[in-house]
Amino acid sequence: MSKVCSELYRDFFYKVNGMTFEMSEFISWVTVAIKDIAQTLGIGMCKETFSAPKTPFNVNGVNQSVVFYSDDSGYDECPQTFNFRTGEGGGLEITFCPKKGYVWNEEELDDIKFIAENLFIIGGRVQMLSVMKRVSITDIGTGTSNMNGLFIHCEELYAKNVFKDYNVIFINLKNFKFINRVVGERQADLILKGYAQRLMSFMQADERVARPGGDNFCILVRRERVEEFLRFISNVIFEADLAGEKHSVTVNSRAGVYEVKEGDTVNDAINAASTALNTAKITGRCDVIWFEAEMLDKTIKANAISNIFPEALRKEEFNVYYQPKVSLDDNNLCGCEALTRWIKDGKIIPPIEFIPVLEREGTICRLDFYVLDKVCADLKRWLEEGLKPVRVSTNFSKLHLHNSNFAEEIISVINKHGIDPSYIEVELTESSGYDDYEALAEFVRKMKGYGVSTSIDDFGTGYSSLNLLKDLDVDIIKLDKSFLDNLGDDKKTDEIVIRNIVNMVNELDMKVVAEGVETNAQAKLLETFNCSMAQGYLFDKPLPCAEFEERLKGNKIYVDLRN
Ligand code: C2E
Ligand code: CA
Ligand code: CA
Repeated sequence: MSKVCSELYRDFFYKVNGMTFEMSEFISWVTVAIKDIAQTLGIGMCKETFSAPKTPFNVNGVNQSVVFYSDDSGYDECPQTFNFRTGEGGGLEITFCPKKGYVWNEEELDDIKFIAENLFIIGGRVQMLSVMKRVSITDIGTGTSNMNGLFIHCEELYAKNVFKDYNVIFINLKNFKFINRVVGERQADLILKGYAQRLMSFMQADERVARPGGDNFCILVRRERVEEFLRFISNVIFEADLAGEKHSVTVNSRAGVYEVKEGDTVNDAINAASTALNTAKITGRCDVIWFEAEMLDKTIKANAISNIFPEALRKEEFNVYYQPKVSLDDNNLCGCEALTRWIKDGKIIPPIEFIPVLEREGTICRLDFYVLDKVCADLKRWLEEGLKPVRVSTNFSKLHLHNSNFAEEIISVINKHGIDPSYIEVELTESSGYDDYEALAEFVRKMKGYGVSTSIDDFGTGYSSLNLLKDLDVDIIKLDKSFLDNLGDDKKTDEIVIRNIVNMVNELDMKVVAEGVETNAQAKLLETFNCSMAQGYLFDKPLPCAEFEERLKGNKIYVDLRN
């Protein structure tokens, strides 16, 4: 380096060598610095061309050309070009041209080379810092923002007092676990990525898609675009490359929406949207739920329930009640259903308050097996005491169908107690629909092989009732209580439906249990339809074990209720 220039260079590098994460800032520093040395070094033009391939953190890649300096009086086209390779197959080209009529000597050419090399090194560092920053705010799996990135962006909007102009939306994909199982984890990841990119295509520069993890997304969208966004996510279709073939994929989701209010912190808003989504998941009624203040109370209660559940199970706070089923042919006790009661500090918590929470957490599976274990123990005791037990049905969540050993685990509990499997009936509910029909059919087949009966609970409340009848070899259909609610009104629609369901089920060699029978008129009508069994308050409520044992001893004459 020439002595004359050393002072100049110190100044030059001082200008470009500041700390920044931003390439754009670095470029503007270089522009100023080159301008300041251009006259001394006879520079007429200086530019760079930079390319970087697409990466998870830079989904569009980079292809940029920047002119740092161009002399007003022009330059000679005898360029000095310096090429550098950057990481991941990218490249940087720096070009200098002398100003008009200027010819660089050896020493000056050395100086220019020295500047180019140092710009590459310093620029590379800025690039690295900017990648590090992007990594810290990007979700690797999908290329969307991560929650850290979303927080930072929202905090910036909050500081400008415009956060209140947005809505926060939490999204959870429907049936993604099922997709995962059917197509495998790798392909499911591609579907997730395709979906995330569709979401990003909707966003404008000030809006964000973030992925907190799994199949959840958290979205920030301007208020006036929220309706359009909700329509957009109600049916997202895109093409995915799965195992080398293009497939059209449709993804449906549930969403919890929160409209940010003046003064809400970023945390408040994100929590509210997440609470709304949880409510959507628990109730399963709507695909889009807007946040309401009472949801927070419910969430707090639900969290309390899931926190104390393991301890409650250990302390055996769950009791099994038995509700009799009565044969409509001879009015005798012909079976019963085991129903859980949580007895906490002397008070009974009804299932409706805790079953949906446990179902969401997946912990329901432990409770179901706990109940089966208690039922088998009771059956064993009744047999030893010389009572004549009836078949006991127990409720199992459809979540068990994800467990390929479900049937084997049931039979092993029954065998552990040494009771005849024909005393047990497994109730699976229809209401929420089955996302994995195959697993259900396989389970029913296995149970039949083991001699355990199966029934479809809440029949008629789901979407696939007739398919269930056609394809599944179940023993019992439990007609949902809602059919009975309107029995006896003038239109007779429910009468016609019930009569035909009962006929169809009987012809298919299965039996119908009518649930929620409350009046003698209902029971009589069911009898004329040839419905085999009834269960409901007309006969008995769910009874504590000791009281139910009295029924086994024959102390209640159900026929008396029917006159
Ligand atoms: P489910 O299986 O449909 O059980 C029938 C529900 O209807 C019971 O409510 C029962 O008390 C009630 N019921 C029976 N007869 C009548 C009637 O004549 N009128 C009216 N209005 N209601 C009647 P319960 O015991 O509160 O259970 C609610 C739900 O909780 C059950 O609905 C079942 O889905 C679930 N559940 C209860 N125990 C368990 C369990 O151990 N495991 C699982 N997975 N779910 C359970
Ligand atoms: Ca049931
Ligand atoms: Ca039911």
